[in-house]
Amino acid sequence: MKVEFLGSGGAITTPRPGCQCALCRRARVEGVPVSRSGPSVYVHGPELLIDTPEESAMQLNRAGLGPVPHATYSHWHPDHTAGRRIWEMNMDWFHWPPQHRVTEVYLPQQVAVDFRERLGMWEALAYMERLGLLRLCLLQDGDTFTLNGVEVLPFRVAADYVYAFLLTEGEKRVLIAPDELVGWQPPDWLPRLDLAILPMGIHEFDPFTGARRIPAEHPVLRTEATFYQTLAMLRSLDARQIVLTHIEEAEQIMPEQLDELAAKLQQDDGLPVTFAYDTLVVEV
Ligand SMILES: [Zn+2]
Ligand SMILES: [Zn+2]
Repeated sequence: MKVEFLGSGGAITTPRPGCQCALCRRARVEGVPVSRSGPSVYVHGPELLIDTPEESAMQLNRAGLGPVPHATYSHWHPDHTAGRRIWEMNMDWFHWPPQHRVTEVYLPQQVAVDFRERLGMWEALAYMERLGLLRLCLLQDGDTFTLNGVEVLPFRVAADYVYAFLLTEGEKRVLIAPDELVGWQPPDWLPRLDLAILPMGIHEFDPFTGARRIPAEHPVLRTEATFYQTLAMLRSLDARQIVLTHIEEAEQIMPEQLDELAAKLQQDDGLPVTFAYDTLVVEV
């Protein structure tokens, strides 16, 4: 298996339109790895796209990918779903009868429930299914699906409208948790992992100086996992390799600082952490 980070940003991507901060100004000039598009990964092997942010079309073109045979969604939030129209790329305009490509879209149980109530997601996907561009595959909790010999198990994290994915191919195991890990404790049943992908979490404290960056009473600290909470999760995971992603513009962290932080975590905590950037490919 190979995991390709199509987008390593969060809800607010980098550069943020109109923002004149040093990070955004640099991102406009240098692009990757300073710039970050919306959260999405493509898993080579099962040929599985996880989540479709607004930039999905650009991301797939940049990676030289497509058509996409399989996809799934972690949760309904717009930063993970707003590129839902991507499936119209399967349209065959020229032949009659048309020879559309078809993407199998796997929806975990609660994602399907939420899609019926949020952002017109169900209406949009059902419309494209009627056009013959995708096939919705509805899952119940505990269901797995197998793609090219890779078994995929979606499971709920603590915020129970959000799913993480455990991918198993022979002895190889990969955990992909795209977002929203507040309150999550890695469950005991998780096996030893060859690769774990988690959201970085928000930096309540400066990771180098320990100085507080977000006021203790800020409500965001009740809805988002912090970086230190994420580190606690990582310590209880048994993972050979860890990649942190979903890195928000608001974090104001340059790639060089992330490299420095990764080195510090490896040295101080023995955590095999690196930070994602757009186009990163990790092989297991
Ligand atoms: Zn997100
Ligand atoms: Zn900015």
